[in-house]
Amino acid sequence: MHEAGIMAEALEMATAEAVRAGGSRIHRLRLRVGALSGVVPEALEFAFAALAPGSAADQARLEIEPVPAVGWCAPCRTAFPAGDGGERCPGCRRPPTTLCQGLELELASVEIS
Ligand SMILES: [Zn+2]
Repeated sequence: MHEAGIMAEALEMATAEAVRAGGSRIHRLRLRVGALSGVVPEALEFAFAALAPGSAADQARLEIEPVPAVGWCAPCRTAFPAGDGGERCPGCRRPPTTLCQGLELELASVEIS
């Protein structure tokens, strides 16, 4: 499962962060997950429940912050909600030049002691 690997990596990063801060327990970790990141939040939660026990994040709370997809049209200099990625610029009806957000998959914060 794709999400299990991602969660394992996030836990590793969180643990490294805890060690760097001189702590040993993770109480809360927050992940930012973009709408177009291809990651299913429920699968992340499932992976966390499987991986957390016995780790530094045992008893920790996992928070998933969903990030909506936003497209950017360069010619119009307009940002617009990109939803599933199929939306077009409201000004010129072209597909977005780039995505401003929606592909995030990152550890936003870790609470440790
Ligand atoms: Zn446009």
